[in-house]
Amino acid sequence: MSFADRVREELCELPIKHPCCRHALMAGLLLCAFENEEKQIAVRYRQEVVATFASSMIRQQYGKVPDSRMSGRCGHRYYDLFFTSPACRKLLFRFLEPTADIEKILSFSCEGCRSAFLRGAFLACGTVSDPHKSFHLEFSLPQKGAVEMLARFLSTCGYEPRRIVRGDSVGIYYKGSAYVEELVTLMGAQHVIFEIINSRIEREIRNNENRATNCVAKNIEKSIAAATRQIEIINCLMEAGKFEGLPEGLRVTALVRYRNPDATLDELVALHEPPISKSGLTHRLRKLAEEAEGILGKGALE
Ligand SMILES: [Zn+2]
Repeated sequence: MSFADRVREELCELPIKHPCCRHALMAGLLLCAFENEEKQIAVRYRQEVVATFASSMIRQQYGKVPDSRMSGRCGHRYYDLFFTSPACRKLLFRFLEPTADIEKILSFSCEGCRSAFLRGAFLACGTVSDPHKSFHLEFSLPQKGAVEMLARFLSTCGYEPRRIVRGDSVGIYYKGSAYVEELVTLMGAQHVIFEIINSRIEREIRNNENRATNCVAKNIEKSIAAATRQIEIINCLMEAGKFEGLPEGLRVTALVRYRNPDATLDELVALHEPPISKSGLTHRLRKLAEEAEGILGKGALE
């Protein structure tokens, strides 16, 4: 069972607290409904669990048992419901108003109403990706007016959606764990929300580990560049015949570096006999660079 199916199952099982919330939920479930040629309300769902749930909601809200029919096309199954209801017909007509405002149409009476409407809309036309793969939540419908009404509702709730066209359908979507977490919470799916949060935390830990690895790789790159430069300096001093005239300490350090081009600074320190401190080593390397600059001119080895 996909993650989105588990979200849908949980949403179908949530209790409905008030009649106003049931009305709002029903309106969400009817976002993809239309009036067919036989003057019936027709509504198509892609999941059997949603169709069964919607059928029971229609019975409670409009006192009608809808006819149901299953059909298939291009490997997809569809579950169609048909019923007649003047009240429902009136509601769907209001959805068609160019700037239909669901908050005015339904006059949400309690905080639960918004949540219920969003839950119905998600069941009717929403999907969400598996949070272990990505954070993407989308609503898509062939009815452009209904999508725009849903987009206006979500914007007033503080969630400005992005838009996408998919074949015959228009979609609005959200990317990112924050949006997905908040919208799923608003719908009321308490169980799956923990899965989304855990996936987000796992991803954050992984990203931090990657950042740390990149940081180590950058440091290695830097040390290789420094070692290459130091070898160039030593070569320059030798070619200019200046090497033998250097103080003994500088010659020792130059030879240790020359013979161990891959060694880190700590390894170079350990290779010195008599021992030397790390700051002593850096001092000597700097001195060697100054000597080379004396020959080549300042900045020549940058
Ligand atoms: Zn309510």
